[in-house]
Amino acid sequence: MSEAKTLEYTADYVVVGAGASCLAFVDTLINESAATVIIVDNRHKPGGHWVDAYSFVTLHQPSFFYGVNSKELSQGKIDHCGLNQGLNELATGAEVQAYFDNVMREILLPSGRVRYFPMCEYVGEGRVKHLISGEEFRVHYTRKLVDSTYYKTAIPATHTPQFARDASLTMVPPNALPQILNQHTHGFSHFTLLGGGKTAIDTCLWLLQHQVNPDNITWYMPRDAWFIDRKNTQPTSAFFNDTIGAQARQMEAIAASDSITDLFLKLESAEVLLRLDPEVLPQMFHGATISRLELEQIRRVKNIVRKGRIIKLGADEIVFTQGTETSAANSLYIDCTASAITNLKIEPVFQDDIIKIQMVRAYQPTFSASFIAHLELCYDNNDKKNQLSKVVPLPNTLEDWVEMTYRNMMNQFFWSKEPGLKAWMLKQRLDGFSQLVNNVRFYQLDKLKILNRMRKAAKPAIIKLKAYREGITLSSQQ
Ligand SMILES: Cc1cc2nc3c(=O)[nH]c(=O)nc-3n(C[C@H](O)[C@H](O)[C@H](O)COP(=O)(O)OP(=O)(O)OC[C@H]3O[C@@H](n4cnc5c(N)ncnc54)[C@H](O)[C@@H]3O)c2cc1C
Repeated sequence: MSEAKTLEYTADYVVVGAGASCLAFVDTLINESAATVIIVDNRHKPGGHWVDAYSFVTLHQPSFFYGVNSKELSQGKIDHCGLNQGLNELATGAEVQAYFDNVMREILLPSGRVRYFPMCEYVGEGRVKHLISGEEFRVHYTRKLVDSTYYKTAIPATHTPQFARDASLTMVPPNALPQILNQHTHGFSHFTLLGGGKTAIDTCLWLLQHQVNPDNITWYMPRDAWFIDRKNTQPTSAFFNDTIGAQARQMEAIAASDSITDLFLKLESAEVLLRLDPEVLPQMFHGATISRLELEQIRRVKNIVRKGRIIKLGADEIVFTQGTETSAANSLYIDCTASAITNLKIEPVFQDDIIKIQMVRAYQPTFSASFIAHLELCYDNNDKKNQLSKVVPLPNTLEDWVEMTYRNMMNQFFWSKEPGLKAWMLKQRLDGFSQLVNNVRFYQLDKLKILNRMRKAAKPAIIKLKAYREGITLSSQQ
């Protein structure tokens, strides 16, 4: 009897991962070319980490410039209630999931040029394993293999905590809170948040919103972070003074600073960045974006333990890298320690016949992926493509912020020298900011004044960032 033949599939591009980066890349690829694509993803639905997100997650930046280029995510609304009130709407996790599902079902698959293999692990060398049947098949590309999994986004629901825990303590990811706490019998009178990032902030806000007394919350904060004021990320014209004004203020702050610490203090005075506690100087920057109303709320929590990273959650004692604490009786421990992005290394985006999707504009993963697809189609050689897609590293430390901002500004400068790219960006939904600047008219003197301030401060800011870069070690180089 002959052995069953391994199935083989071929397309111009094979993309590993079906998260936001993949979908933004493929959307641009199929809209700007006749390419065919195979997408392989180990989750059961498109959307990557959003598929397993906690139910109360939202985008932390406006929906306006998130998703894929050819389909709106935003409904063009300003929030009138809640802690984002007065600002452009933020899609909820459920909306983001539904959106990515629609992108697959209504745009990519109906194109007839995309094949999607969910529940399938790419194991390398063209081999793919179906996670339910265990059967293997092969995928081949005639042009490129695209790795959209490079950042290895981790979330509490799926990661393994990096500390030991006594089995007598109850620890859950934020996903479990609504189900556990809607039982009369849950028995928890205290809540302990583990982690200092955006997930911990969201969870804190959720507890406060659901009538938990702030005195019944303890927050284990390994490092304090600087936050971006969400008001400064609004891509609509009513917010020009906030958004583009913040860019001008940022450049002026950089130019006027005399050390990295001084720079961050100046960014705070210029209302570009926020922090939880005015008495504690943050040493971390992960790009978390919050509104001032959210900041006001989280400041109600006063039991903040700053003793470094957790080593062990013991039955009687919590051990940190810099001290210990007594375990809280009847506390529910909520694990918010997953680092959204676990791979901080950077590599060239275009490598022979492989594309490694990474960020080429700070905080904008979907714009970056769409931009990379456009470069792939419009330029012939990898050297030129890499010149135009210098990776903007993901920040962890304050020094990383310097590198990120420097590279971001340099990319913007090089793109502005390419007329084709400039024209392309102006038509992209995902690039709200170029349009905001381009729409300024000669009679809008206030706006022109802001643009002039920005232009004037750009060169001194770049010189200052260059000077800071010379003396620093970056997380991405470790
Ligand atoms: C809570 C939260 C809120 C956020 N809010 C915003 C925001 O407001 N704005 C913003 O711009 N960004 C935001 N981000 C950043 C966010 O990470 C990106 O927007 C984006 O969703 C990342 O998508 P990705 O495709 O790069 O990665 P992922 O979502 O991780 O997708 C990669 C996919 O590849 C799969 N995969 C990995 N290895 C393999 C393999 N070998 N075979 C098959 N499949 C594989 C993974 O399972 C996953 O499905 C947020 C992130 C988090 C965690």
